[in-house]
Amino acid sequence: MTARILDGRALALTMQAEIAAAVAEQVNCGGPRPGLAAIQVGDNDASARYVRGKIEACERAGFASFPYRLPADTTEAQLLNLIERLNSEPHVHGILVQLPLPCQINEQTIIGAVWPIKDVDGFHPTNQGLLASGNPRFVACTPLGIQQMLVRNCIATEGAHAVVIGRSNIVGKPMALLLMSKGPGGDATVTVAHSKSRDLAAIARSADILIAAIGRAHFVTADMVKPGAAVIDVGINRTSKGKLTGDVDFHEVSKVAGAISPVPGGVGPMTITMLLHNTLRASQIGQRQS
Ligand code: NAD
Repeated sequence: MTARILDGRALALTMQAEIAAAVAEQVNCGGPRPGLAAIQVGDNDASARYVRGKIEACERAGFASFPYRLPADTTEAQLLNLIERLNSEPHVHGILVQLPLPCQINEQTIIGAVWPIKDVDGFHPTNQGLLASGNPRFVACTPLGIQQMLVRNCIATEGAHAVVIGRSNIVGKPMALLLMSKGPGGDATVTVAHSKSRDLAAIARSADILIAAIGRAHFVTADMVKPGAAVIDVGINRTSKGKLTGDVDFHEVSKVAGAISPVPGGVGPMTITMLLHNTLRASQIGQRQS
């Protein structure tokens, strides 16, 4: 079997065009132009690349963008001050703080300081709680993008066994919650596996949909995949030669799986797209409340 490629890049372009059309219509009807503030602290190369990609996508879709690049020795109080200012800035509908932050800044404090109605990353405990209680507002962009990838590629989740490897707050946990939620892209039977799981290969092999969010290159091998399963690779790893690679042994697994997302060009572009989706929604929520 040769797996169907789940092309995140192509789907992201389609969805970003849909978002751009919705923005144009909103603005033409006198509504607000969605605005995203993106804060980077320090000069981590990968973070700078991610933030640049997000800002460029915003601008292509007709959003206003407000980039902030702060020095690496920024204090927690200084960052909190900026967030407080952006929380009450009416043109800013979404606030993104690129992680990781330098060690003098507590990430949880910063995540908690962004107003939940501007938390377009979906990391605030209020938004995570809303998702867990079945009433989602802003859902973390990576799992939301994966759910869209499944839905738009007609990969049935209803009644399927989905195995998520990884239990982080930003990928694994919200992914599991989305897959078990009611409705399109949900209604799956979900297993969450992690670093302490026993017999992980057997658990993975029982999946109709296998989602790898681990952060270890080539962790998922062909013997861990049920023939015909859909395999979604979230991992972003660099090989010793600097090449970008996922958590899945793409070459071998694509001979067994029914569908597979590549790295790069899979989940990454969908994550950026869902940031735009959340920011557009934030601009609409703001409108209803003003
Ligand atoms: P994390 O480090 O917070 O979590 C990793 C998870 O993997 C943990 O829950 C851990 O239990 C599990 N794990 C680690 N070793 C394991 C093992 N041997 N067996 C089973 N499980 C194991 O990472 P994260 O933030 O969830 O990100 C995971 C990966 O996804 C990283 O490579 C990250 O760079 C990537 N990522 C990609 C995107 C994207 O847009 N493509 C977005 C977010 C994260």
